[in-house]
Amino acid sequence: MTIKRVLVTGGAGFLGSHLCERLIQQGHDIICLDNFFTSQKSNVQHLLQYNNFELIRHDVTHPIWLEVDEIYNLACPAAPGHYQFNPIKTMKTSVMGAINTLGMAKRCGARILQASTSEVYGDPTVHPQPESYRGNVNPIGPRACYDEGKRAAETLFSDYHRRHQLDTRVVRIFNTYGPRMHPFDGRVVSNFIIQALRGEDITIFGDGSQTRSFCYRDDLVEGIIRLMAYEGDDEHMPVNIGNPNEFTIKQLAELTLKLTASSSKIEYKPLPEDDPLQRQPDITRAKALLDWEPTIELEEGLAHTIEYFRAIDLSDYRAPTPNH
Ligand code: NAD
Ligand code: UDP
Repeated sequence: MTIKRVLVTGGAGFLGSHLCERLIQQGHDIICLDNFFTSQKSNVQHLLQYNNFELIRHDVTHPIWLEVDEIYNLACPAAPGHYQFNPIKTMKTSVMGAINTLGMAKRCGARILQASTSEVYGDPTVHPQPESYRGNVNPIGPRACYDEGKRAAETLFSDYHRRHQLDTRVVRIFNTYGPRMHPFDGRVVSNFIIQALRGEDITIFGDGSQTRSFCYRDDLVEGIIRLMAYEGDDEHMPVNIGNPNEFTIKQLAELTLKLTASSSKIEYKPLPEDDPLQRQPDITRAKALLDWEPTIELEEGLAHTIEYFRAIDLSDYRAPTPNH
């Protein structure tokens, strides 16, 4: 196997830190770049002992000069509470982060993968969502800084591919959960588990009939590593990676209560503006191109995640700080 120099932006985050771990195990030289906006060094502390791992504090909205063979561009706040904290910065991170990493890929001749999202489909009118669906996004709503930022990044990736023949990959990630999610990111899985473990009310937004399809982080990381390695037809076109098993948010709350043996009650709160009512990936393309499909179902993945949240010290974690 050829050893590659691999840059992972957002590498200290929930998904990025697992990706770094996997790439280190494969023997590659990893540069993890992060500004720690929604993560902390403890996520990658255990990786600092490896000679093939390097950590750089840097913000992707600013250029940086590195020599690499592959780039995974994951830097971007992902939870609604995090990306709405400073929406203008979120848009800059997606757009300028894409421009800066694409520029580096062009200069180095590196292959580059963009972490896009199911949010490019917005509140979908087609169900499940295939990659050919162009989406239903409100360009001026509270989720737009993230959704439109990620859509613009996809545009930049396609144009760099068309105009400069850059070797690009785009993965559209559907709701992914697992150990090392930020305990206070407000995403539904982390929120419900923390509430259940503390005996607080489980907050369901709306009537809980909206759906999501939850993918365990190990399945997701396997999928994106395969996409980066894939060489074949239409390799630059977006690929959905997610678990097609769809659950209502109420079902997720009930399963969390069961697995934590919690006596928490359910409290209903208003549904946030533009909250998508349904979401389920069509993974036909991932199966055909990458021979990939998820292997870990919700009950098992949730049990691992609960175990993780039981073990961490919540006082080690902080919400985003206003200096970004
Ligand atoms: P995360 O918040 O844990 O990770 C994002 C990382 O990017 C963090 O470490 C953060 O500090 C860093 N970051 C943010 N802004 C930055 C900047 N300007 N410069 C440098 N670093 C910056 O979230 P995650 O769930 O691990 O998401 C990783 C990527 O996957 C994101 O691009 C996200 O949009 C995408 N994604 C995730 C999901 C999911 O369900 N987890 C779904 C769709 C897409
Ligand atoms: N949600 C909820 N209670 C919470 C947090 C989230 O009912 O405490 C709902 C939210 O309104 C959405 C779904 O759970 O319908 C998934 O939310 P999340 O923020 O995890 O991700 P999204 O898929 O909306 O980006």
